[in-house]
Amino acid sequence: MCEMSHDWMSHRSETHAFHVSPGCERLPSGVPKLFILFVMTFAVAAVFPTQHALAQLSQSPIDIRLKNVTAELQPLLTFTYSSSTELNVVNTGSPDEESTVRAVVLPGAGKVRLSNKDYFLKQFHFHTPSEHQIQGHETPLGMHLVHQATDNELLVCEVFLQAGSKVVHTELDKIFRDLPANAQEARVVAGFNLNKILPYRRASFRYMGSLTTAPYTEGVRWIVFPDRIRVSDSQLQHFKSLFPNEDSREIQPLNGRKIYFSYR
Ligand SMILES: [Zn+2]
Repeated sequence: MCEMSHDWMSHRSETHAFHVSPGCERLPSGVPKLFILFVMTFAVAAVFPTQHALAQLSQSPIDIRLKNVTAELQPLLTFTYSSSTELNVVNTGSPDEESTVRAVVLPGAGKVRLSNKDYFLKQFHFHTPSEHQIQGHETPLGMHLVHQATDNELLVCEVFLQAGSKVVHTELDKIFRDLPANAQEARVVAGFNLNKILPYRRASFRYMGSLTTAPYTEGVRWIVFPDRIRVSDSQLQHFKSLFPNEDSREIQPLNGRKIYFSYR
């Protein structure tokens, strides 16, 4: 962002310099028009700094490499989640590669407070495999908890789900034992404890990224927990059977963004 601002400023000042150039009117006929066109191109580039290119610079997911991580005290992240709420669980279009099973929560069921700002839990959904990676490693399943502030800023948490055990995750099983198998099919799940789907320790990686499905909007605040929660093999296989072609976006370039690690 700093580099972009710098470019923007330097284009601006170049444009300004061209405008005041006293030599302009003394150029041979025909040249001034070209020159004005040249100046206008710079002016347009300065005012509209290639929206498309900018839109692609801060995308998610990313591979979190420890060499790129800054350990720095970060603002406290406080979760206030309901221990008994209702979910509307929807299949958004299996087996489409950008679809998932989404659990929509009731208004007020959960929020995250960060730097005196509240982000309200809207829904959570799953990707196979997990979308983020740590040191090049993914888990077979990832869960995204999507929060939104009143100014529409998004904060999304990724929780890694590790399979390989016979122990069923009892809370997630309220969703997984009867996953809506067909597109647009929905189920209501009652008495769901949202606290049970967060990792016990709240250490996190944090960075600024984007939505991982169209329209890939940027300005999304990402929180990635290194601690995993466990699901059973059968729970994993049940989800994967609905999305045989997987439903995760490929890793995106970091492009010099900062990743922070917070112990709390
Ligand atoms: Zn997602």
